[in-house]
Amino acid sequence: MSNRHIATPNDFRAFWMPFTANRQFKQNPRMLVGAKDMHFTASDGRQILDGTAGLWCVNAGHCRPKITEAIAQQAGELDYAPAFQMGHPKAFELANRLVDIAPEGMNHVLFTNSGSESVETALKVALAWHRARGDGSRTRLIGRERGYHGVNFGGISVGGIVANRKMFGTLLTGVDHMPHTHQPARNAFTRGQPEHGGDLASELERIVTLHDASTIAAVIVEPVAGSTGVLIPPKGYLQKLREICTRHGILLIFDEVITGYGRLGAPFAAQYYDVMPDIITTAKGLTNGVIPMGAVFVTSAIHDAFMQGPEHLIEFFHGYTYSGNPIASAAALATLDTYREEGLLTRAAELSPYWEEQLHSLKGCPHVIDIRNTGLIGAIELEPVAGEPTKRAFSAFLRAYEQGLLIRTTGDIIALSPPLIISKEQIDQLFDTLRKVLTQVD
Ligand code: PMP
Repeated sequence: MSNRHIATPNDFRAFWMPFTANRQFKQNPRMLVGAKDMHFTASDGRQILDGTAGLWCVNAGHCRPKITEAIAQQAGELDYAPAFQMGHPKAFELANRLVDIAPEGMNHVLFTNSGSESVETALKVALAWHRARGDGSRTRLIGRERGYHGVNFGGISVGGIVANRKMFGTLLTGVDHMPHTHQPARNAFTRGQPEHGGDLASELERIVTLHDASTIAAVIVEPVAGSTGVLIPPKGYLQKLREICTRHGILLIFDEVITGYGRLGAPFAAQYYDVMPDIITTAKGLTNGVIPMGAVFVTSAIHDAFMQGPEHLIEFFHGYTYSGNPIASAAALATLDTYREEGLLTRAAELSPYWEEQLHSLKGCPHVIDIRNTGLIGAIELEPVAGEPTKRAFSAFLRAYEQGLLIRTTGDIIALSPPLIISKEQIDQLFDTLRKVLTQVD
């Protein structure tokens, strides 16, 4: 059966869809059957402008021939190679190429298959690193309210999204959460980094004092929290986290699954904000979202601490069947080529002023209580309907889709993150549609 012809409700029964209201969706499914550059094709033939780069991942746009051809060629040449005690050239080449664009000092790469796995890998590296240096009492982890670090147990433990945690019981123990930095009362309609809230980083100092630094392994934050509605770091905030971590011997992990690979106008947020973490987690844009793959960057200081024992022994007991998978590596290499040839890792910096201007022109539209932006990311926060949070934004999502635009909503926040190839005309089209949609939602 072709996916264009799914017709009866029974056809939808088997797939238990992720992060989806399954019963509602299956009554009125939204099906995508094709994609090219900035657009999806819906099952009814309509062109849908991709305002979200899929799920923040299709940075170079859809079905780029260079990437799809590299995948096809690799699949015919070396489809799979064992990931342990064996190598293949593309994984090594990819790691070197990634180090070339990474912040200085991030010299080593571990491969995973997703953002969630990158987070688990980073947390395990942090714990094992302290232990390798004889500091095994450092086991506590610190995350942040409204943080999203994927869906595995480590990630939801350090993550701060209540809904993602509360179904699952105890989770990791020894985890604390700093407050989030969203302060709409003080920062509403800020362009770029908010003025207020940098002082919230001192909450880290309070947690460190509470438990003693000698018990704390790592702090993990998204430089820009994406999934909970685009929370941009207030001025000075990341610098202060860095300073506190350094002072207390705590590792700082940036979860750059969204911000990595050009989303802000530099390859990574660490470069954009000029704050150097110890570990960076990535995925999504690494392969343009086309093949599942993640990469975790670590400094030489971290890597080298594992390379001290006898040479014949495995240094780190961790890895995946598909770590550095040949087809994923080929996809990532072709993606990096595309980013380089088209200047996409810095294009968001060029487009950002235009993007910002058009986005903020929605100020004054019905229900809009805040607008914020950084790089090629935007958020429009709507006043929630009393007693029915999420209703208004979800209604905007449905209406936008009907009118040929894919947006993403989280709570009552509309999040935008188009492919980095978007043109100014397409930016206009995106915001013209949204302006109309906002006058239509109740
Ligand atoms: N970390 C962050 C910051 C993310 O935004 C995401 C995905 N949105 C993840 C981790 C998890 O990535 P994945 O869905 O690939 O597991």
